[in-house]
Amino acid sequence: MFEGRAEDRRGSQRAMSKASDMGDSDQRDAAGPTGGPWADLHTHTTYSDGALAPEQLVKKAYEVGLSSIAITDHDNVGAVDEAVEWGKQWHVDIVPGLELSVTLGEKDVHILAYFFDHTNQNLLDYLTVFRHERLRRAERIVKKLNRINIPLKLEAVLDQAGVGSVGRPHIANALIEEGFVDNYHEVFQKYIGVGAPAYERKYQMGIDEAVRMIGTAGGLTFLAHPGKYTTEAELQQLINAGMDGIEVVHPSHNEARQLYYRGVVNQYFLLESGGSDFHGGKKNDDAVFGVYRVPTHVVETMRSRLFS
Ligand code: AMP
Ligand code: FE
Ligand code: FE
Ligand code: ZN
Repeated sequence: MFEGRAEDRRGSQRAMSKASDMGDSDQRDAAGPTGGPWADLHTHTTYSDGALAPEQLVKKAYEVGLSSIAITDHDNVGAVDEAVEWGKQWHVDIVPGLELSVTLGEKDVHILAYFFDHTNQNLLDYLTVFRHERLRRAERIVKKLNRINIPLKLEAVLDQAGVGSVGRPHIANALIEEGFVDNYHEVFQKYIGVGAPAYERKYQMGIDEAVRMIGTAGGLTFLAHPGKYTTEAELQQLINAGMDGIEVVHPSHNEARQLYYRGVVNQYFLLESGGSDFHGGKKNDDAVFGVYRVPTHVVETMRSRLFS
């Protein structure tokens, strides 16, 4: 998967000079540690709720000066092989990744998995189950919307999802396309976010089971965007479950929060990850891509934890 190193290095140098051309904005200073070349270890494609196909995402990664990206679609690894091929053309290293929703006590948390064998049959079987459960949840959400006099059709949601794992962002997109709501974020606030009238949970694994599944497939597990709401007791539970690291750099983390989580990582001998959580499209988050990033030595540290 990572053949063609000399070419990749040339690509990285090109990418670096491009990144430095862009100058240091305040946002860039807040976005992560200095150094480079750069990696974005949290991105989405059309295989889940991202707007860009793997080809477009990899090209864009090159254009914004990234030399490595992890594709972390929700419950789907369909983009990985395609992205690896495009990565050879654009000199962008592709880390196989995944974002999973899991339960931690009463809470839902997201985890990121990296470097697992994306052809592992046990993992693929579980992902198929998760995607099926997503579809059933979409049906329940549409029914709830219909009951509050929003006549959205499931077909409109499925059109938005295409080949990807169907998620609430597709419902948001469909509501906007059909003219029921104007704004993406408003959809979550008013209708489908936690606590809103058409919110529905979906089936998901517990954290222990998820860490075991990813470990069996040879990968590493990280807590995604812990933000403001993860308590120390919960962090302790995640660490006890065998989680390998924490996503420190993320658009929802200000500098103080990054420092806090970097401290936790160091205290418990964990690994650090980081990225933009870029989706594109109606989420209107173009500004984060190429900005929330980590030096590629973060990726090398992950690799050496697994392969040395
Ligand atoms: P799902 O996996 O179907 O539950 O959808 C979760 C995705 O919806 C997240 O990865 C975000 O991309 C998006 N999302 C969740 N809550 C919000 C929100 N309040 N505003 C905008 N996007 C959100
Ligand atoms: Fe998403
Ligand atoms: Fe997430
Ligand atoms: Zn994400």
